[in-house]
Amino acid sequence: MKKILITIDGPAGAGKTTVSRGLADRLGYKYIDTGALYRGVALEAIARGVNYEDDEGLGKMCSALNIRLILNAKGLRLLSGENDITEHIRTPEISMMASAVSARPVVRQYLLGLQQELGRDKEAVFEGRDMGTVVFPKADAKFFLNALLEKRALRRYKEMSFKPSQSLDKVEQDLKKRDENDISRDIAPLKPAEDAVIIDSTECTVDEVIDQMLLHIKRVS
Ligand code: C5P
Repeated sequence: MKKILITIDGPAGAGKTTVSRGLADRLGYKYIDTGALYRGVALEAIARGVNYEDDEGLGKMCSALNIRLILNAKGLRLLSGENDITEHIRTPEISMMASAVSARPVVRQYLLGLQQELGRDKEAVFEGRDMGTVVFPKADAKFFLNALLEKRALRRYKEMSFKPSQSLDKVEQDLKKRDENDISRDIAPLKPAEDAVIIDSTECTVDEVIDQMLLHIKRVS
């Protein structure tokens, strides 16, 4: 099998992370969670009191940031400067801020080169919203993973720690809002690439989704 680059886009809670990790494991590829990069920028913006609409402030902040994903003994980690911020980016507040800052061209521009650099050697599964459309338009295999909103919200709710910090209704509202932001933004909106294979995971297990993907990957590699 030749070395390929795989993209998986789709709305929040569609199962992209679990599927991308599983697929990368099955292929011996690296897995890149690009949402974590947007979350890292959001965390820094909140920490520095930069408003999501302040493009100048975001631009200045991004030019001084050193956000990166690394693989170490603990797995895939998100670093900002010397700080490991992996454990701090999964709060509802960061989710909403990531959604807001990701609509700003200055932020997307900052992360574009970084992501493309990570994909230089292929043999990678990239998960995000615009992987197949903008970041890697020439990817070898592109997937768009979707599922009904109610199912996505329930999955996300169950993933939350033992005592969920939000009600199921609030989780659903937040997912809906983030989807709307991602779909309606002017730059790199969430949509399937023209050549993406669209998979609805509402009624599928993780393994069933991965198997469908592997079938397609066999055809293109
Ligand atoms: O994937 P995750 O939900 O962690 O992403 C957080 C936010 O980052 C998303 O709601 C989306 O607005 C943004 N994002 C993006 N483009 C990507 C990955 C994430 O705009 N490639």
